[in-house]
Amino acid sequence: MGGIFRIGRKSVLALVGAAVGCLAVVAGAQAAGSGADVLKVRLGGDRTETRIVIDLSRSASGKVASNGAEDRRVVVNLPGVSIDGGLQGGGLGLVKAWVVDDGPGGARLRLDLAADATIKRRFLLPPADGVSNYRYVIDLAAKAPAATQVAHSEPAVARAESSVARFLSAPVRPTKAALPMKKVIVIDAGHGGKDPGARGADGNEKDVTLAAARALKSQLERTGRYKVVMTRDTDVYVDHGVRVQIARRADADLFISLHADSGSDPSLRGASVYTLADRAIGRSAKFVSKDDWFMQAGSHGDNGVSTILLDLTQRMTRNRSASFAEVLLNRVSDHQPLLRRSHREAGLAVLLAPDVPAVLLEMGFITNAEDEAVLRDPSRRNRLMSSVGDAIDDYFGQPTKLASR
Ligand SMILES: [Zn+2]
Repeated sequence: MGGIFRIGRKSVLALVGAAVGCLAVVAGAQAAGSGADVLKVRLGGDRTETRIVIDLSRSASGKVASNGAEDRRVVVNLPGVSIDGGLQGGGLGLVKAWVVDDGPGGARLRLDLAADATIKRRFLLPPADGVSNYRYVIDLAAKAPAATQVAHSEPAVARAESSVARFLSAPVRPTKAALPMKKVIVIDAGHGGKDPGARGADGNEKDVTLAAARALKSQLERTGRYKVVMTRDTDVYVDHGVRVQIARRADADLFISLHADSGSDPSLRGASVYTLADRAIGRSAKFVSKDDWFMQAGSHGDNGVSTILLDLTQRMTRNRSASFAEVLLNRVSDHQPLLRRSHREAGLAVLLAPDVPAVLLEMGFITNAEDEAVLRDPSRRNRLMSSVGDAIDDYFGQPTKLASR
């Protein structure tokens, strides 16, 4: 396995915690602690849809203990998150009152609801331009009105969307979003040409990765917010080093490599995400100097300085990659079961770009009949890719999906 780190929901915490801990030492900013702290809680929206934003010092994941369906009470546990003395406040929209206090193994958020509502979605936003902390976001939606009321409720829904969007656009949305700068996403369809990748019952990995990459490209471009660069858009072989170069030359904000897993046990299925871990980063530096690739990319002169810069860039990048990995798993898990399992190292060289946040998504097992059906069927594949697009929106803090759901 070497230094490749498969990201599960828990290992993300360890990875991000380690990365932030290192940064704090470098910056002299704070003593390294073990978990995240709740910084503050904010509410926005109205009685149709209400958003709760928990500002956190670090990455965290939440567990729903009660989703509001039964007793107008939402409880979300945040294991590993500390809360100093507790926080509470009055309500807004669907929330009558809220409390954050000590829960099992961490903090616990409790919401008393003012009306029948349930959790519509939850996600983690990593630090973005202009926002220095993590945000754990919970969206509540009022229980769907009876069919006769739907026609009348449309203006209210529109108002809700705009008020949530307003709330988001003030404190949560990155300041840079005011500029019409498109984020550059590099989509890497795994394998290709002479390298077929894994073999399924109905075809090769290289074909489903290309089809998925094309689907993701058109979905991202349709939003008008992203510039998409493909490492390949035909059935050709592209060397791993060239794929990494494409990402750097494009000045990518995010690099996502799409693959399909394989296993000797045909019952194995599920999606997973990789990022680089410490030992791989050591290898990255070696890989870079050996291929003379970092030097070509514009760094020269004092070797010590460029080593420090490379190291710092890698720490930041690793942190961001891990954040995106968690956001991605959250979204993909709506469509695919998740898996934790070791992985072959071949193909992972595409993650070795020192300054581009990068993940490798195994969309599912091509050797499993159910997963292969998801990957081969255009509409199911599109839905899966749409969840990847949602994750990219989450990562860049786009408050845009409210209108489409
Ligand atoms: Zn592959």
